[in-house]
Amino acid sequence: MEKIQNYINGKFVAPQAGKYFDNIEPAKGIAYSQIPDSQAEDVEEAVKAAKEAFPSWSGLSIEERGDWMMKLSVGIAARMSEFVEAESRDNGKPIKLAEHVDIPRAISNFKFFATGIQHYASESHEMVGVGVNYTLRKPLGVVGCISPWNLPLYLFSWKIAPAMATGNCVVAKPSEVTPYTAYLLCKVMEDINFPKGVLNIVHGFGHTAGDAIVRHEVTKAISFTGGTTTGKTIATIAAPMFKKLSLELGGKNPNIIFDDCDFDEMMTTTIRSSFANQGQICLCGSRIFVQKGIYERFKKEFVEKIKKSRVSFPTDPKAQLGAVVSKSHMEKVLSYVELAKEEGGTILAGGHQVKLEAPYDAGFYIAPTIIEGLEFNCRTNQEEIFGPVVTITPFENEEDVLMMANSTEYGLSATIWTNDLKRAHRMANDIEAGIVWINAWLVRDLRTPFGGTKSSGVGREGGWEAMKFFTEPKNVFVKY
Ligand code: NAD
Repeated sequence: MEKIQNYINGKFVAPQAGKYFDNIEPAKGIAYSQIPDSQAEDVEEAVKAAKEAFPSWSGLSIEERGDWMMKLSVGIAARMSEFVEAESRDNGKPIKLAEHVDIPRAISNFKFFATGIQHYASESHEMVGVGVNYTLRKPLGVVGCISPWNLPLYLFSWKIAPAMATGNCVVAKPSEVTPYTAYLLCKVMEDINFPKGVLNIVHGFGHTAGDAIVRHEVTKAISFTGGTTTGKTIATIAAPMFKKLSLELGGKNPNIIFDDCDFDEMMTTTIRSSFANQGQICLCGSRIFVQKGIYERFKKEFVEKIKKSRVSFPTDPKAQLGAVVSKSHMEKVLSYVELAKEEGGTILAGGHQVKLEAPYDAGFYIAPTIIEGLEFNCRTNQEEIFGPVVTITPFENEEDVLMMANSTEYGLSATIWTNDLKRAHRMANDIEAGIVWINAWLVRDLRTPFGGTKSSGVGREGGWEAMKFFTEPKNVFVKY
């Protein structure tokens, strides 16, 4: 079976202790490759390489660094089908999604920051008659980037691209559940002869390899995307070391539908925002609130359509939902369906595992699930499930729905469907979320601040925010 390797100082290397664990293909439920079980000593080597590479990498002109980043982008595009197949195989997502969303977005992430860095200017503040301040933004040195499994290369590149573009050297760990496309990225680095030590990729578990990156005294910043509990653990270690922290964490996003919305457009988008990537996108709208006047119509149409959606193996071009990422995740999601029943919920669609024919009979498939009849403050409506499960809840008026929408500990994103302009602005203003879409979902402009409030995270990614995060401002005053 193929053994994935770490990539340290421009070379593929085995973990020093020689240990590996299985990489499971969710569509079939069987192992198809092996992942390095890296430990602190492997991270040590990676940090050493990054530290050594830092003076020359940060010393390049921004055009040169931009060129290298662009070569990474072109290098991924040149191996497009390989990346698409690998992402879908590793994660279980329909191949169409990897082809249209994941890999194109990873390509854009490198391109965006390759060019963005060339427009990243220093600020100056003149004190008339006194002098002038100018603010340099210096790279931090060695930084750690840790990413989750749901959008593997998409979110991995969203961190490492701004980190490198701003002149840092990186020690990065992709999720141990979906390591393969990060491994392919190392092959691209080899293809293009990318400068050694600038990006070092160490595979392994969070509590070992991830923890070593967070704890290492040389990593000056940690950019993390993943679960809220993990974020808390990381903050506990990194905050007393005064590291910069960017934490993109969980969500329980409301999808608020008013009577006056454009019904058909809302329905098409709501199907996507509920079940795209098997509901495993941190921005999915898992709590659907529908105003009473259209509640029954919405329910009938939504349930009918969802019952017809096709759950299938990822390479099926007609698959609307593929497999969820792992057996344990499937069990977790299904346990929430049981909890919802205990809490008085009615399952209107799905609610069970789907068994496909061989060779996919041991895969991790769940029927898209719609639940109604739950209180807004029950556990099913408060905790992140992160799977193809949504709840629907009727509401009377703005006040009513705002209270329910803001009732969770999370505050990542929200969607509002209405044609009342004033109401849309009022709601957007009052909702506790880092990202609000009005009559839309997941429309992304890479320049905008991305991230959440409350337990959904600290800091923002994207555009200037990411470049500011990965640099240290230094103000210099010159007297006239
Ligand atoms: P996770 O927290 O289990 O793991 C994320 C990454 O952290 C993995 O690489 C893992 O190995 C590593 N890790 C785990 N424990 C660690 C530790 N103690 N020290 C250092 N690293 C550690 O999350 P997951 O299950 O991979 O991803 C799902 C979660 O990610 C969901 O909660 C989802 O909402 C969240 N997410 C958030 C966003 C966002 O932008 N806010 C985007 C995608 C996913």
